[in-house]
Amino acid sequence: GAKDLGKNSYKYYTQDMQAVAVKRITLLNDLRYAIQNDELFIEYQPITSFKDGKAIKAEALLRWQHPEKGRIAPDEFIPLAEESGLIIEISNWVFEEVCKNVKRWQTHYCRELQICINTSPSQYFQQETSITDWLTRLLDENIAARSILLEVTENLLMEADTNVSKKLFQFRQAGVDIALDDFGTGYSSISYLKKLPTDYLKIDKSFVKTMTDVSNDKVLCEAIIVMAKKLGIKVVAEGVETQEQYDILNNMGCDFGQGYFIARPMSKTNFEAFLKAH
Ligand code: C2E
Ligand code: MG
Ligand code: MG
Ligand code: MG
Repeated sequence: GAKDLGKNSYKYYTQDMQAVAVKRITLLNDLRYAIQNDELFIEYQPITSFKDGKAIKAEALLRWQHPEKGRIAPDEFIPLAEESGLIIEISNWVFEEVCKNVKRWQTHYCRELQICINTSPSQYFQQETSITDWLTRLLDENIAARSILLEVTENLLMEADTNVSKKLFQFRQAGVDIALDDFGTGYSSISYLKKLPTDYLKIDKSFVKTMTDVSNDKVLCEAIIVMAKKLGIKVVAEGVETQEQYDILNNMGCDFGQGYFIARPMSKTNFEAFLKAH
């Protein structure tokens, strides 16, 4: 009867939950060893200027090649890393990797090159550690501050306390650029523009994707670009996948583009070849 059915579905439900929990714990355990086992690496995705097509920026995107499970997407393991606190160690590793390469790339291929690094909330919340050490590291390595851009997401800013903005202002003061990532997807985005130092807005790819068929999204993109211009903020459009999107954004006066139409995220070796060719 109905009672049995209820019982069964409850059983399945808890079994599912258990399976999910076990999977997460296993993955988290594996992630703990990923750094020392050399399973993490970075792909670089070029970002080009609409004005002259030059790729003077690239976003560093973290990758995990699991020995048995193959590639695991950052959207799957970054949240785990954030919840467990591992993100601090992982982010520091990403930063070190970028530092190792950026100066060499500037010297050999592109003087203006800037690498964009994604950052997570806990990096700013921790009182002592982590993110402010990055400034010291840049100085020690003799890397110009403008070589680095920090991307912050609105979920970071939603929890914004004075500590976050204080740290962001410190970076800004030192010459590191700050970008609001996934702009338009969080809450009260516009108010952050008042409170936080922002050099760049990255229009979320969900707007760009539907720009050609949902006319409201086109209007929103254009409005964001106009607003940013008036505030002296530069705009990067994410997820540019077609010539049509590229042309529309270009006509709207968007400053930079990033997406499969321009270039896919690529290995360090391929990125060097890309820089050499451009
Ligand atoms: P994000 O910062 O918004 O990065 C852009 C995402 O869009 C990347 O996904 C990129 O591969 C993807 N993408 C680029 N061009 C296109 C396109 O034309 N079409 C589509 N559909 N997608 C495109 P990915 O590499 O899977 O990274 C997902 C998210 O993981 C990132 O979103 C970022 O929030 C996070 N993440 C990646 N690396 C790091 C890291 O080192 N640290 C932290 N904290 N988060 C990271
Ligand atoms: Mg990003
Ligand atoms: Mg984004
Ligand atoms: Mg994101």
